[in-house]
Formats: sequence, C-alpha cells, structure tokens
Amino acid sequence: MLTNKKTKIVATLGPACSTREIIKDMIDAGVNVFRVNFSHADYEDVKEKINLIRGLNEEFGYTTAILGDLQGPKLRVGVMEEGVVVHDGDLITFTTAEDILGTAKKVFMKYQNFPNDVNPGERILLDDGKLIFEIVETDKKSEVIARVIQGGELKSKKGVNLPNTKISLPAMTEKDIADAIFAIGQNVDWIALSFVKTPRDLQDLQELIAEHSEYKIPIVAKIEMPEALENIDKIVAYCDALMVARGDLGVELPAHEVPLVQKELIRRAKTARIPVIVATQMMETMITSLTPTRAEVNDVANSVMDGADAVMLSGETATGNYPVQVIQKMTQIIEAVEDSPLIQVPQNTPQIKTKRFITKTICHHAATMANVIKAKAICTLTNSGYTAFQISAWRPNSHILVFTSNKRILTQLNLLWGVKSFFYEKTVSTDDTVTDINEIVKQKGFVQKGDFLINLAAMPIKDKGMVNTLRVSEIE
Ligand code: PGA
Ligand code: MN
Repeated sequence: MLTNKKTKIVATLGPACSTREIIKDMIDAGVNVFRVNFSHADYEDVKEKINLIRGLNEEFGYTTAILGDLQGPKLRVGVMEEGVVVHDGDLITFTTAEDILGTAKKVFMKYQNFPNDVNPGERILLDDGKLIFEIVETDKKSEVIARVIQGGELKSKKGVNLPNTKISLPAMTEKDIADAIFAIGQNVDWIALSFVKTPRDLQDLQELIAEHSEYKIPIVAKIEMPEALENIDKIVAYCDALMVARGDLGVELPAHEVPLVQKELIRRAKTARIPVIVATQMMETMITSLTPTRAEVNDVANSVMDGADAVMLSGETATGNYPVQVIQKMTQIIEAVEDSPLIQVPQNTPQIKTKRFITKTICHHAATMANVIKAKAICTLTNSGYTAFQISAWRPNSHILVFTSNKRILTQLNLLWGVKSFFYEKTVSTDDTVTDINEIVKQKGFVQKGDFLINLAAMPIKDKGMVNTLRVSEIE
C-alpha cells in the first residue's frame, strides 16, 4: 500500500538497494523518485535497476520516476593505499603526471589542469571538507605541494573542492556528455546537473537533450557553488527544478551559511513555481543506526516546513544498512509536519498577459477555491504536465490527481509535491471525461458521496490544448 504523503522522497540507488524486494519495499514505504548517481555508476547495472523499477511500475501500477544525476566537474583524488593518515603541518604533493597509488607523501589528482588553475595560499578541501590543505607551491605543470591544515584519513577517490580557485573545467565534462546520452537512451524522467554556475551550463544540457531525445527531459539545477547563488534568477529561468545540494554547498561556502541559503533557495523556487529538492546528510546516522538523531529528525521536518517539495537520501539508501527503514522514518517525519498551517509558500498571483496566463490563473484559482470549498480533489487532464506543476506550486489541501495519455509524464510528475498521476486516454467529450474521471476518483477512494471535486480541462478536448476550463462537481 502506497503512502498518502504529499512531500516526495528521492532515494539514491546503490549496492544497498539492489534486489527487487528491497526496491519494492522502499517504494511502498514512500520513495517517489530513484536517483542514479553517475559519480559511481556502471551502465549495465544502471540498466538493470531501471528495468527493475519500471517492471515494478508496470506490475503494481506505481509511477516511480528515475532521476539521472550527472557528476559535473567534480575533482577526485586517485586510489590510495589502505589507512593513509595525514597530520597537521605535513607537506604532501598532488601530482597529475601519473595515476600512482596514493601515499601520505604523494597523491594522484584526477584533473590535468589542476597545477595550472591553483595558486599558493588557496585551499584544497577533501572528503566533504573533512581534510583541509593549503597550497604552498605549484610548478604550473604537474605538481602541487600543499601543507596539511586539518589532517585525518585520506581515502581513495574522495571528492575535492577548491573554494578559492577559478576552475577552468566546463560544467559538462566528456564523462557527463557520455552519461547524459546514456541516461537519455534509458528514457530517464529527469536529469540533474551538478556544479551549475551559469544559465549557459543549463543551455548546454538542454541542447544535448534536444539533439538526442525526441522529448523534452526536465532539468534539475544542483545549487552547490557560490556563483550559482549569484546567478540564481537566470538559473531559475533555465531549469525545471532546483536542488539544494548541501553536501558540496557546505564545502564551497562555510557550512554555517547553508541554513539561510536553503531557505532563500526554496523561496526562490516556490516564487518561480518550480519544485525544489533538499539534499544530503538528512538521515546520515541511519547509514549504520536504526535511530536517526533528534537533529536529523528536525532537519527533515524543518526542510518540509521551509517548503521543500522533496527531500533526498544519498548514502543512507545507496550504501546504508537500512534502506527501507530510513524511508519509513522519513515518511513518518514528513506526515507529522506537512499539513501544518505554519508552512507558507509564496502566493504571488500570476501576472496577466504572461505566457500561458489562462492556464496559470485557472490553476491558481482552482487551488484557492479547493481550499475555500474544502474540495477533496483537483483533477486535471494534461498532455504536457504543465498544469500539474502549476497546481502543485500553490499547495492546495486537496489531492492533486493528474490524468494523462502521455506515458512519459506519468512518472516524471511524481517528483511534484502532492501530485498523483494516472493513465487515461479517452477523449470522447469534456462532459463524458468529467463524469468518467469523477467515477474513477470515487472508485479509487479519493472522494466520497457529498464531496466537492474540481475538474480542469481544455475545451475542446480533442485539440489537446491549454487548460481553459474549471468545473466544480459534487460527488453523487
Ligand atoms: P552529490 O550532490 O551527492 O551528487 O554530490 C548532492 C550534494 O552535493 O549535496
Ligand atoms: Mn554535489
């Protein structure tokens, strides 16, 4: 039995959720979207998992979505000897010359231009900022000497952040382009781009998608760089969702600045009426423990209170010991807070004469009216999914039930707050469709005799045009 929560859960795939049983249990416990993290993905394995999820969707009528998450220009160190520890004050060499097995003296850095991009005095942060180095000198060719400022265990293939350095890597590396083409070939529902800095980065991905896909694939811009914050208005205009990627954001910026940035980014996404995902370390201790900390419970709850449409798990489900239990806990936390009247998202009414104003205003009024008349559901017939985005953004108390003959958006819309979607392909007449849909909704148990229900449609129905009609019914 699927849960009725409205806030969505994104769970990262990995070795901890490799069987059909575990994945099914995770969906039943509340996962709406699975994330393929291309930082650690093997194509054959990804194909297998995607087929498995789609098989479950087919068999049980789920609408689980797949999000392909591109690594972006993430720097990493090479493979290290077991148990290397570096101490404060030590000097260490980062080399790009050859892929050596790393020691406490010399480590391979997987980015050719690294010695040329960095300057003495700049910092190198490793493993989400657990280790800190300061650059002493660079030969601008293949070797950089750095002093350890904060030591610790230096593990294989850990991520590197250079918060003070201008990196000359493009937003989409060769690996990202290959991964994106693979993801498009697998018909993923969403693609996320890491380390977005400018709208140009998003346009590059849009162009790549247009070149390789017959359909539009919506893009999640991962906000994890200070430059992205500076350009946020333009970024919002070129993406379909935001992710508050707190892992890298908290290294690129001082971690104590992340809470306010989270609130601002959520507000920015909600003003633009696009979904926003809050990510990273939400239930971190549940990787090895059955009980989350109070701080983690508060973090998930407060993210929902801030207005997040979705919350994300990374290591918790990819490599953790309790991939199902962590979803159950997260669902409980979400259900405990998401109906609170203290949650306020911006209600900036659509401006007249903007693009698709008619549809926007109908969705806005449908949501407002649903709250006033206490309608149990807003049902919308959509071909592009646009109305689902719009209604979801207003956060009505009612169910948001989306009917579509477009199989591709059936799963894509599952990232959206409160949205449940159903396959529907009859197009006899608007009259007929409304009666028919209301009957389906009643049978599914979303409404009962005497309840109000709001239907949105495009008339004439055959044109599959913009939503232009709102109808209120009382269920008989
Ligand atoms: P990642 O993105 O897990 O792909 O790094 C999320 C984050 O940085 O928070
Ligand atoms: Mn990241």
